[in-house]
Amino acid sequence: MSDSVSASASAPVVTLRASEEVKYKNNDPEQTPVPDEFGPTIQHIKAPFEIGDVFLYTVFIGLFFGGLHLYGEEFWSHILATYSRPEIILGGSLIVSQVGFWFWVSLLAVLDLCHFPKSFWRYKIQPQKVPTWDWYTDAFWVALQNQFLVGAPAGLLLYKALEWRGNPIGMELPTIWDLARESIGFLIIEELGFYYGHRLLHHPRLYKRFHKKHHLFTAPIGIAAIYCHPLEHLMCNITPLLLGPVVMKSHILTLWLWITIGQTNAINSHCGFHLPLFPSPLAHDYHHEVFNKNFGTVGFLDWFHDTYGSRELTNEKKMQRDAIAKAKKN
Ligand SMILES: [Zn+2]
Ligand SMILES: [Zn+2]
Repeated sequence: MSDSVSASASAPVVTLRASEEVKYKNNDPEQTPVPDEFGPTIQHIKAPFEIGDVFLYTVFIGLFFGGLHLYGEEFWSHILATYSRPEIILGGSLIVSQVGFWFWVSLLAVLDLCHFPKSFWRYKIQPQKVPTWDWYTDAFWVALQNQFLVGAPAGLLLYKALEWRGNPIGMELPTIWDLARESIGFLIIEELGFYYGHRLLHHPRLYKRFHKKHHLFTAPIGIAAIYCHPLEHLMCNITPLLLGPVVMKSHILTLWLWITIGQTNAINSHCGFHLPLFPSPLAHDYHHEVFNKNFGTVGFLDWFHDTYGSRELTNEKKMQRDAIAKAKKN
């Protein structure tokens, strides 16, 4: 298990060396839990399939192709006639990624810090850990640093790579069939890049230097999606996300849709709430809690390498072990 962290079966517990105790954001014994007035939190169990796993992305894809069908040609001709190539590729990608990121992060900040809407607090995954302003101010500066010191140069590289692969701003608009074909490549590249990159960062020689920062949040918040070392941001967040559209020679509009979906997924995985109609964040939230399970995003490599984990599975295994031990005693 990474670092000095251990998980007990019934309730995963993070045990820290005394010198490190203050460094973890969510393990303050004085931490105030979700106030009683918010009502009891619901029990979070991941069903094999949840409507939220596909609902939000179906809405995104529906809006995207609906919009293209209605206004696409007019909109795209206007963009091509008004802006230069670098302005479209670089400027457009910057706007899409910034708006997409800060939109969700702002809504979650209102939920976390102003406790609004109160009714959503029943969906808090780790109710004993309530976000504070300190977490947000710290995460805000790290997020900005990663966006501009790592994200901006990566954008320039993306521009060169897209140009090298072909013309990403062709007059012909992408179709839903283009997206269906290309998204297979996107998902495979994302899972391979994120899983193996992330697992590598859990190697004892690399963990402290490059990945521990991200794990300072044992109960993550949305903005913590990019609360990490710059190398981790480049290796695990940016590269797996952007490599797919480069390899698949995607249209820039498809790339923008994919950035929006990828960022939303990353923020949702860290948001700390399992909200109805949103994809389940339980797997990655559990990774932050116990450190050694659920390294991937899509999930097929966790299944392949048997690194999938959940609170229920841990409890089940503990009960089985106890039953075997009891039977042996008798
Ligand atoms: Zn994370
Ligand atoms: Zn990790």
